[in-house]
Amino acid sequence: MSLHSLRGFRDLLPPDSALFTSIEAAAREVFALYGYQELRVPTIELKELFVKATGDTTDIVEKEMYAFTDGGGREVAVRPEGTPGVVRAYIENNLGQTGRNGKYFYIGNMFRAERPQAGRYREFEQIGAEQIGNASPYADAETITMLVRLLEKAGVSGCSVVLNSLGCGECRKAYRETLLNYLRLNTATLCEPCKGRIERNPMRALDCKIDGPVLAEKAPRLSLCPACAGHFSRTQELLNISGVEYQVNTSLVRGLDYYTSTVFEVRSSALGSQDAVCGGGRYDDLVKSMGGPAAAAIGWAVGVDRMAMLLKDKPAAENAPKTFIVAAAKEAGTKAFALLTAMRAAGISSDFSNFELSLKSQMRSADKSGAAFALIIGEDELKAGTVAVKLLKEKGEQLSVAIADAPSEISKRLSA
Ligand code: ATP
Ligand code: MG
Repeated sequence: MSLHSLRGFRDLLPPDSALFTSIEAAAREVFALYGYQELRVPTIELKELFVKATGDTTDIVEKEMYAFTDGGGREVAVRPEGTPGVVRAYIENNLGQTGRNGKYFYIGNMFRAERPQAGRYREFEQIGAEQIGNASPYADAETITMLVRLLEKAGVSGCSVVLNSLGCGECRKAYRETLLNYLRLNTATLCEPCKGRIERNPMRALDCKIDGPVLAEKAPRLSLCPACAGHFSRTQELLNISGVEYQVNTSLVRGLDYYTSTVFEVRSSALGSQDAVCGGGRYDDLVKSMGGPAAAAIGWAVGVDRMAMLLKDKPAAENAPKTFIVAAAKEAGTKAFALLTAMRAAGISSDFSNFELSLKSQMRSADKSGAAFALIIGEDELKAGTVAVKLLKEKGEQLSVAIADAPSEISKRLSA
């Protein structure tokens, strides 16, 4: 039997791995700009956390969780999303009492046992932001603006922001009945899973991949109470002020239970059928319902794999070494190794193949490496205490510099 990776799990090879790193770096820069701090939460938590937070009628919990009983008999699950862990950490560590701004970001792998296809994996990476403790529309507009700036900073273009409001518990109480009545009259048009769950969670049908598109056209619409309507229109005003383009779409219902009020998605038509790049929204009741203080909150998560797909055709960051060190004689190995160390200590990325191989073989590796210079030490150089500097990418004369001067000499040439 040959060992292979599991279906839906994959290796990220260079240069794709560098693409992911550059997206993460862009995100960290933007988070710093907006006053967000990193929160690292565990990959495995009690299963109950996700059932309670994400919701027991959601696809994630019903069908997609990697859950198992651990050696101690505990029901645990590998995280399918970031928000439940962040909220648990917020409550468990009394983060609401630190007097800080309640803005957190995370970068990490998530796991969902769904059917693998382009842009849909069983292990994937999310970058997420959560702001806990700010109920005002300023927080909504700030977090959506930050999201758009993050996509821009990472180089992703051509995305659209879709916005809706799901109202508060009060708006939804009345709507739940209206919608349920409508769905009961139209059960024939529902898929099997929806038939079974409309009584528990009628809004789920609107987000169902099968029923949703049909229902979205005909189902009765939610009407917002004055407070929720005011919050939603103020959010839009503020987004206009920060220059963020968006479209309001009243059929946008997010697939997780905890959302209230503002919800949004970022989509890109360049992605084909898996077109969602980011999902997010307010979850004003979640912290309290998980046993914490009453704390309104808003957050989002972008899919890094899908961002990377959108960046695929952009030139990758240059990560070739600047110099490649070659020992042209067996006795030169020690000096070559010391030079390699000195170059790196001077902050000049440098590489080598194997000082015990032939000059020809080392020069072949030097050419392949993409380095700008080969630094060669042979018998003559050993005697003279010098190193031969050869331009690799373009033709030029080889010059000789004192070995001790090599780092500063190369630095000068690189910056010229
Ligand atoms: P979808 O509608 O594509 O199933 P979702 O609503 O399940 O998305 P969220 O839970 O909101 O997605 O997660 C936020 C983002 O994480 C998505 O917009 C997407 O970019 C990414 N994502 C979600 N599931 C996967 C997956 N299985 N593989 C790769 N990326 C994913
Ligand atoms: Mg999904």
